[in-house]
Amino acid sequence: MTATKESYLQSMLHGELTWVVGEQYVQTDDADKLGHSIDYYWVPEVWHDRGKELTPPDFVVHPGSAKEVAEVLRIANNYKIPVVPWGGGSGSQGGALPIHGGIILDMKRMNRVLSVDTVSLTATVEVGINTQHMEWELEKRGFSSMHLPASIACATLGGFIAHRGTGVLSTKYGKMEDMIMSLEVVTPTGEIINTLPVPRHASGPDLTQLFLGSEGTLGVVTKATIKIHPIPECRKFHAFLFPTMHAAMAAGAKIMTSRLRPCVIRLYDEPETAHLIKRVLGIDREGAYLVFGFDGQEEMVDLEMKQACALCREQNPEDLGTEMGQTWWDNRYKFFYPPYMFHMPQAFGTLDTVATFANIEKVYWAMKNVVTENFPQARFIGHFSHWYEWGCMLYARFIIDEPPTDPREAIALYNKIWDMAIRAAIREGGVINEHHGVGLKLGRMMKDLYGPAFKVLQDVKAALDPNNIMNPGKMGFPGGNR
Ligand SMILES: Cc1cc2nc3c(=O)[nH]c(=O)nc-3n(C[C@H](O)[C@H](O)[C@H](O)COP(=O)(O)OP(=O)(O)OC[C@H]3O[C@@H](n4cnc5c(N)ncnc54)[C@H](O)[C@@H]3O)c2cc1C
Repeated sequence: MTATKESYLQSMLHGELTWVVGEQYVQTDDADKLGHSIDYYWVPEVWHDRGKELTPPDFVVHPGSAKEVAEVLRIANNYKIPVVPWGGGSGSQGGALPIHGGIILDMKRMNRVLSVDTVSLTATVEVGINTQHMEWELEKRGFSSMHLPASIACATLGGFIAHRGTGVLSTKYGKMEDMIMSLEVVTPTGEIINTLPVPRHASGPDLTQLFLGSEGTLGVVTKATIKIHPIPECRKFHAFLFPTMHAAMAAGAKIMTSRLRPCVIRLYDEPETAHLIKRVLGIDREGAYLVFGFDGQEEMVDLEMKQACALCREQNPEDLGTEMGQTWWDNRYKFFYPPYMFHMPQAFGTLDTVATFANIEKVYWAMKNVVTENFPQARFIGHFSHWYEWGCMLYARFIIDEPPTDPREAIALYNKIWDMAIRAAIREGGVINEHHGVGLKLGRMMKDLYGPAFKVLQDVKAALDPNNIMNPGKMGFPGGNR
């Protein structure tokens, strides 16, 4: 049952929601509903672009506290209607779309930095906070979250927690799952719980990690204690142009397996070097561009930088120096916005995945071959942006400049590319996704990835959310009510 079918039911619900959050925080007009019907997922974008109607929520509710969230969830359970948490709506996987109608829980009113612990270097914040605002608040106090994603200005901390998101400095400061100390969560049945105050313990399994990456399917995250960092004394960059991606990968892997600690390494394959690096940095030569940076105390930075450069030179690259590294850093967000970013009518997908150093190039080639051999209309480019001691993340993209004009045909083609590319990645040791999440886009492949282990996740979902109200139909979980 969804609320749209019966107007008296809508009216009852409207009244109850209003009692909880106040009249001005329950929106039902068409503009508000439309704004909460589309995120950064290409499928609803093309649907909308071609004049088709989106699926709106019945209500957009703006809670001001965990208690209000809990009350809203209790109402939703009574009527068995869906609730979908909404942060900035910048997600690329359709995670926040109200595909079964119901209540959108827009978290942006919960946007305060509540406290900063300057002894332990942690901060406790409400997770509806815009990540750029959070960073500015911390910088005013002399600290940084070191979470600097390309969507810093249009996303909330809650969205990143829900997607295990990542920022440009993840190689040193970690992904979202490394940045969190503890969480406050409202469970689907409306209990407000806190996970343990520290992220390392032997007191049973880690509940914090259960909710990280749960994409609004296991509850609503309302508060987080995050790690914060002093602003580093300096941050320096260096860039090289390698003859091949393979040679550059060998250098990047050597930097990581030598246990140097760059804050960033980014390696662009030859086509993306030609496409993007040429346009943004003006480097008009063939090869694979690799940039890295170190930050911290200058003496240490200089030493690590010297060692990393020496490891790179073993592969005989062209030394582009510090300026071509610094220019990349200064332009780091530019790559993700017009005119450099792809947009309608182009079809494009970010096939991000992660694998060990032993497998990552196999994953790259498997994805690239499957896309270019089966879909001659598609281009394939990629870079490697988040590096670990054991492997790195591939941010691959397919682009079709002129997809079919019929949206159904365009979506069918789009999904076919996704299915074949992701399955190729899984076969070679990759995963469905590294930091954008699963959402509506990739839920159908969760069983392929997890095998029988997916039942464990399904059982957790069923136990925590008996009426299946939380974000139904996402992450491979069933849509509608049980
Ligand atoms: C230009 C651009 C650049 C991007 N760059 C990056 C990048 O560098 N790194 C990166 O990781 N991502 C990036 N993204 C993707 C996107 O910004 C992230 O996935 C981000 O985490 C989404 O946050 P949001 O607040 O917009 O979430 P939304 O899109 O509103 O929601 C995303 C998911 O989180 C759930 N959710 C939101 N808030 C809560 C909550 N409080 N409790 C429980 N569930 C919740 C929603 O239900 C949904 O499933 C980029 C997107 C764009 C448009």
